[in-house]
Amino acid sequence: MTEKNTASDSNFIKTIIDSDLKNDIFKARRWKGSPGEKQSHADAPIDHAKIRTRFPPEPNGYLHIGHAKSIFLNFGLAKEYGGSCHLRFDDTNPSTENVEYVDSIRESVKWLGFDWEEHEYFSSGYFENLHTFAIGLIESGDAYVDSLSADEMREYRGTLTSPGKNSPYRDRPIEENLKLFSEMRNGKHAEGSHVLRLKIDMASPNVNLRDPVAYRIKHVEHHRTGDTWPIYPSYDFTHGVSDALENITHSICTLEFEDHRPLYNWINEKLLSLGYLQSPLPQQIEFARLNLSHVVLSKRKLIQLVNENHVEGWDDPRMPTLVGARRRGYPPEGFKLFTDRIGVSKADSWIDYTVFEDCMREVLNEQTLRKVAVLNPIKLVIENYEDGSSELCEAPNHPQKEALGSRTISFSKNLWIEREDFAEDPPKGYRRLFVGNSVRLRYGYVVKCTGFEKDANGEITEVRCEYFPDSKSGTPGADNYKVKGNIHWVDSATAKEATVILFDRLFQHERPGSERDFLEDLNKASKEEIRVQIEASIDDAKIGDCFQFERHGYFSVDKTSSPEQLVFNRTVTLRDGWKP
Ligand code: ATP
Ligand code: MG
Repeated sequence: MTEKNTASDSNFIKTIIDSDLKNDIFKARRWKGSPGEKQSHADAPIDHAKIRTRFPPEPNGYLHIGHAKSIFLNFGLAKEYGGSCHLRFDDTNPSTENVEYVDSIRESVKWLGFDWEEHEYFSSGYFENLHTFAIGLIESGDAYVDSLSADEMREYRGTLTSPGKNSPYRDRPIEENLKLFSEMRNGKHAEGSHVLRLKIDMASPNVNLRDPVAYRIKHVEHHRTGDTWPIYPSYDFTHGVSDALENITHSICTLEFEDHRPLYNWINEKLLSLGYLQSPLPQQIEFARLNLSHVVLSKRKLIQLVNENHVEGWDDPRMPTLVGARRRGYPPEGFKLFTDRIGVSKADSWIDYTVFEDCMREVLNEQTLRKVAVLNPIKLVIENYEDGSSELCEAPNHPQKEALGSRTISFSKNLWIEREDFAEDPPKGYRRLFVGNSVRLRYGYVVKCTGFEKDANGEITEVRCEYFPDSKSGTPGADNYKVKGNIHWVDSATAKEATVILFDRLFQHERPGSERDFLEDLNKASKEEIRVQIEASIDDAKIGDCFQFERHGYFSVDKTSSPEQLVFNRTVTLRDGWKP
């Protein structure tokens, strides 16, 4: 580990929390009794958490590596400060959301090792509150029904450099607004005919404050509320209110919401002054989202990859989704190390994919048992070993962890070795097998290469050698043999044939989509299936198990695997060998 940045290291968010706790600004809320008349709090949490954060995914896709950063941040802070972290499904857009996504999000958060306990919420659970608040805002003159078309609204909004102008409907009498809003709520109006807007300032330099939309008409069924609502609150109207209703103290989000913060505060402060919310209000804090080289982390693009069959589903091991990562064999502890290492900052940056892979390697190196597999097999025949005879060699399960014990692997006359471990014309410095050279067969004997055979196409079909019976590893004679090469092998009499899927980066370009359509940056050769030979002890491997295949990398048993037909995903190689 070079740059160390562990969870206990400080960052700007912790500085804010420390100061808030020192000034005890949340004390009032923690001990507040039941909310006042107008304060219809939803499931106000009753535990006495010091701070309260939330992870608020929109259930319109599967979680990805970027979300993992947010999960570790929010749940991690809650854990560290003795607080609570809520899992809130931000489900205000029924046309893109569904239950499959809700379930997968729950599962992925749990997989990363977090528990939200009783604090699972849905923004849709606040639809009644939000509706009440909207009426309150109309009554106080802070919201109005606008009947401009979408195009007109866009025109009236102005631009980043020019102010907007007031809608002709902005000064509708309160009574008319209430009547129209009630009709909208009762499904009397067509989509797009009216919206409810907050009356803030059409000339504000911040376009988010130019009378943002609070409610839209959508005659769409919701996966939780069914057809109860023909109108749905906007993200901006919902989010801060949901935070306040749940007594969130620190609402942590990504930088693109920085410009929404004045709106977030405007809404909550207004509702506080009207008596709908209680103080202290939650505060929004922004941090830089994760950008990973060679990876797309936009849900819209991930959905496209799935729907257009560029990958084999959300859990395709090449996908940056958490279900994909899990299937590929990346351990949750690797995500923890990664998020600790990259830290939290206010400045947007790109993290190189190799940083992510290195974290996974570090954790897998600790966690996995060793096995021997030959990925590109060629026969090695030991001429002076007795036909039909065999013996056992001992191999440690983990070279740095004696406590994990050892296993035996069988040795006989016919072995499989890697094709790359034999050279007909050895390049300079080549230390492995070539005619006349000796190498150690790891955990077994020293052998000397005597020859090889080729088929009609000139392809080498087998390598031949002689072994030295007194050279076996672990016996006193072993030390008498000083050889430079050490190669792995499996016994062809007992080895299991299996399938291994080799993955390469899904995108060839470092910043997919930065120069052309992101689909054109797809790596056409991101997946290759090969047939391999693995030591017999792999027999009892179960789906999800992960191993180090010595000299090759880390491999996990795929969900399509069966005892008869083992299938492994290559999670990551031992070293970074990626070349653009
Ligand atoms: P997209 O823009 O791809 O649709 P999103 O940010 O809208 O993603 P949400 O489901 O709203 O997706 O995200 C839930 C939480 O995860 C938010 O708080 C968001 O800030 C955070 N998040 C999403 N992507 C990243 C990322 N790349 N890095 C860090 N946090 C992220
Ligand atoms: Mg979002």
